[in-house]
Amino acid sequence: MYTIDHWISGARVRSTSGRMGPVFQPATGEQQGQVGLASVEEIDAAVSAASEAFASWRSSSLSSRADILFRFRQIVDSRRDEIVQLISSEHGKVPSDAAGELARGIENIEFACGIPQMLKGSYSEQVSGGVDVYSLRQPLGVVAGITPFNFPAMVPMWMFANAIACGNTFVLKPSEKDPSTSMLIAEMFAEAGLPEGVFNVVHGDKVAVDRILEHPGISAVSFVGSTPIARYIYSTGTANGKRVQALGGAKNHMVVLPDADIDMAADAAVSAGYGSAGERCMAISVVVAVGDVADPLVEAIKARLPQVKVGPGTDPEAMMGPLITGEHRDKVASYLEGAPNEGARVIVDGRDADLPDKGFFLGVSLVDEVKPGMRVYDDEIFGPVLSVVRVDTYEDAVRLINDHPYGNGTAIFTRDGGAARAFQFDIQVGMVGINVPIPVPVSYYSFGGWKASLFGDANMYGPAGVDFYTRTKTVTSRWPDPATSKVDLGFPQTK
Ligand code: NAD
Repeated sequence: MYTIDHWISGARVRSTSGRMGPVFQPATGEQQGQVGLASVEEIDAAVSAASEAFASWRSSSLSSRADILFRFRQIVDSRRDEIVQLISSEHGKVPSDAAGELARGIENIEFACGIPQMLKGSYSEQVSGGVDVYSLRQPLGVVAGITPFNFPAMVPMWMFANAIACGNTFVLKPSEKDPSTSMLIAEMFAEAGLPEGVFNVVHGDKVAVDRILEHPGISAVSFVGSTPIARYIYSTGTANGKRVQALGGAKNHMVVLPDADIDMAADAAVSAGYGSAGERCMAISVVVAVGDVADPLVEAIKARLPQVKVGPGTDPEAMMGPLITGEHRDKVASYLEGAPNEGARVIVDGRDADLPDKGFFLGVSLVDEVKPGMRVYDDEIFGPVLSVVRVDTYEDAVRLINDHPYGNGTAIFTRDGGAARAFQFDIQVGMVGINVPIPVPVSYYSFGGWKASLFGDANMYGPAGVDFYTRTKTVTSRWPDPATSKVDLGFPQTK
């Protein structure tokens, strides 16, 4: 059994808190490691390291920062397999899925390599006689990232790539369920020449998070995780005067109109519903079947389910791995137990699937005739359970989605451009796919849901990430002829 350390000031540091958390191998159900859960003092040590590194990091040239990021990107790229195996071992997702996550994470490093362009300010000459005004973007200082278990590489990359490129120093508190990937990332940064203290990793639970939220040396907090915790992070962090972006949970609907290609829609629903065992914030969890598309669509989805091979990441045939913990697997299964009592019809029950003997596995499930007010509809299940809601019209579909408290992602499947255009206009959701089931924006756009899926007003990564990790300074400048100088107590005017 291995022990996972913190990474502070460019070195591994063994936790002395006396508290450890288990790290499982979800595919076997066995504990394979333990992670030190940071004390207040350990968080303080990481923040001190980041504070000490800040002055010289923010003074480094933009090209030297870009240089390090280019080297880091090269190192991550050359060691993809190692990262993928680590993600698969601690998270449970199959290697092809882990490779996809990593590829989408690397996009964010690539975006950050272009930081000199992104940090350009603006300049107005002669706003008044001999007066010029210009604005600068400057880093915030020490910033922290708190991340969920489901993307141990990609979500931290959403945050730290831009934060560091902008001249901030970073303290990452990854999920304690799959913490090793962040340590590999820290080593790769060191190899790329990142100065000590610019990137730090502290593992932990609520004790660590609460210290981050109240630490006076931390200027901003980026959070991705479940909605109740996101709400708490936002309210506590902002009450402590920090800039906070807190991304929460989701319940993503995929609307299928009667004119859609049924096979294409069914392929998309199965891929986006069960990929990563449904443990994605952009997973499709509800298919909204409009009009008479419902029966053939449900049949087409059901027909595809026997193809979804469930197994450990070490099995090259496996398409879907286990859930993150036994407790989470049981919680997901409880929705299947409850659904018939609420009036829904469980067409395929993942509890009956032929599954490996060990590990936190659950097969794929399809639940039809689901309605608002049922737990299976209202809650974010975060597992391989796809619900079908049948509605009569396009308007009913839009109303259903707009009434749901979450607003992370959604998709529409249709051949009608006018209907798709109306959907993009009408729908109260932050990320929309048109015949694209998982519309995660590329790294040069920005990621963010609406409603209970995001607290604060700042999307993550891309241009919004650069905005979040910098503050504007506006300079008004005059180099006057001393001969024209005089005392004038009036408020400055431009005419
Ligand atoms: P989680 O909210 O349980 O944990 C997220 C982070 O918060 C972890 O680092 C954890 O240690 C910390 N945390 C947990 N409980 C805490 C508490 N009581 N006080 C303070 N900190 C606490 O989320 P998770 O289970 O790791 O991840 C799954 C959730 O994340 C899902 O709801 C999913 O939709 C969401 N998610 C959202 C996005 C997005 O972009 N909106 C992306 C990925 C995941």
